[in-house]
Amino acid sequence: MSTDDDLNAFITREEIQATDDGPLSGLTVAVKDNISTEGVRTTCGSNMLADYVPPYDATVVTRLKEAGATIVGKANMDEFGMGTTTETSAFGPTRNPVDTDRVPGGSSGGSAAAVAAGEADLALGTDTGGSVRCPAAFCGVVGIKPTYGLVSRYGLVAYANSLEQIGPIAPSVEEAAELLDVIAGPDPNDGTTREEGADSDYANAADGDVEGLSIGVPTELVEGADEGVKAAFDAALDELEAQGAEYHEVSLPSVETAVQAYYVIAMGEASSNLARFDGVRYGVSGGYEGNWNESFANAREEGFGEEVKRRVLLGTYALSAGYHDKYYKKAQDARAWVKQDFDEAFESVDVIASPTMPTPPFKLGESLDDPLQMYLADANTVPVNLANLPAISVPAGETDEGPVGLQLVGPAFGEETIVRAASALE
Ligand code: GLN
Repeated sequence: MSTDDDLNAFITREEIQATDDGPLSGLTVAVKDNISTEGVRTTCGSNMLADYVPPYDATVVTRLKEAGATIVGKANMDEFGMGTTTETSAFGPTRNPVDTDRVPGGSSGGSAAAVAAGEADLALGTDTGGSVRCPAAFCGVVGIKPTYGLVSRYGLVAYANSLEQIGPIAPSVEEAAELLDVIAGPDPNDGTTREEGADSDYANAADGDVEGLSIGVPTELVEGADEGVKAAFDAALDELEAQGAEYHEVSLPSVETAVQAYYVIAMGEASSNLARFDGVRYGVSGGYEGNWNESFANAREEGFGEEVKRRVLLGTYALSAGYHDKYYKKAQDARAWVKQDFDEAFESVDVIASPTMPTPPFKLGESLDDPLQMYLADANTVPVNLANLPAISVPAGETDEGPVGLQLVGPAFGEETIVRAASALE
């Protein structure tokens, strides 16, 4: 197994001490570098914020410190969370500890690689369209994307705020659930957090009891997967069945529109959220010489990487007068349809299962020149964000090219159910 020198899992290595004793005392945590840490730079994987030092802690960081955790550093990531491989980071790619010729997945690739390589006991990632689950699957560890509103986003640098949640990455389901217990619950600083789930006990739910559990398998999320991935997925379902669960087919016809809808919404929100990086309040300076527009353009030209620029441009276009109805409104309609499909499916099943990613981890460099190919890799993860639902990725075997993850999706605030089901696979 490789160590961090060749993995590049961290952008900044700096210890942040606990403020109290608690359930995470003695444990080390890697924190994705788009989560604010007071006094420790928070770059979002971007040149734009290479020297940005937040004046306050994100709520999840405060909760980690109060729970006794030692933060060991800020984990590498795709720039502003935009990517599926951690190769769009301005600080160089992270490598997959399972096979260093391959990507760790993204955008929370540094977080998952750190956990898989034993560089941290636990990690926090963020998931806008799969960025916790994808790297968890590719690195052979566990990742949870919580229900929208379960975990505070206060202090998270926004990419697409209506879609994203901070989530735990850990070597086992129980450890991921323990970390979720620490970070979950309402926060007066984030008006989108909810009371639901606040007094759940996720760690206790990891009891492996799937007797009578009904698992829905949507053909739409399985048929496009690689053969090796499918074989591992089928074996995982058989294992759950052997332990008392039952599975049957369900249909989610709307998911065919999900990748398109996701990228229109995510890019639209990104174009708005990233407008603040103008070189005046935040970011590299554009060198003011009497012309503000030129100064903003200089700062953004220099500070942002190619993928971020592509998305800001496309997002601005999709939101502009004349195109708003054609793109953005249509994407919102598709989003509502995806939600409705999941709601209907959950009338007859407890969880919905699919491969987390349709393929094993890519080789480094393989997908970089083909953004569309990279976007399509998110087919199984983005529907969950559009519907604001919880999902877990748990290791489910390997192909010759690397680890496979099983994704289990639950109804809103159904984290205990997906944790229970996932723990049966370990
Ligand atoms: N790959 C997706 C994207 O690039 C998801 C990213 C994420 O969840 N932050 O938008």
